[in-house]
Amino acid sequence: MDLSTFPIAFAEAREYLHELDGLRSDEWHDSLRNVLALPRATPKAYALLHPDWLELNFNAGTVQRLLGPARFDQTRLDPELASCHAKLIWGYECDIPSSTPLEADHLFPRSLGGASEAGNRVWLCRRHNAIKTNDVHLYPSWGDWKPWLRRALGNRLLVADRMLRR
Ligand SMILES: [Zn+2]
Repeated sequence: MDLSTFPIAFAEAREYLHELDGLRSDEWHDSLRNVLALPRATPKAYALLHPDWLELNFNAGTVQRLLGPARFDQTRLDPELASCHAKLIWGYECDIPSSTPLEADHLFPRSLGGASEAGNRVWLCRRHNAIKTNDVHLYPSWGDWKPWLRRALGNRLLVADRMLRR
């Protein structure tokens, strides 16, 4: 992330927190459909991803299935990406001498609904990974429709639609 983009990212994170706070459970299903029809992802799309909505709407087995695996496979390191990606999050190159082995972590936090898929994976050294929290203020790409995000929201909508038909 370029340092000059931090204020924009912060504004998106702020909007995310407002969307999360303002959403009502009975609007979740319709909101999913509406947000998936938009040309760009929005902080609201990420708010609809929050595991809280799943727990309110589905049984434990369905929740687990929709959330997917909790962790990344730590062994599939692409050799081209064999350095810590601190810059993506904090805006500077990692030059920590002991920056290996790298660890795979969620770019959009797992605790907020981020999927354990390659598109939401960031490789960090253990030092940077240890300080990466579930704070979304430095999330770099709110506006892009990440395939994992579309897929996660689409799967939630499918299950919600199916329940409604019953
Ligand atoms: Zn690092």
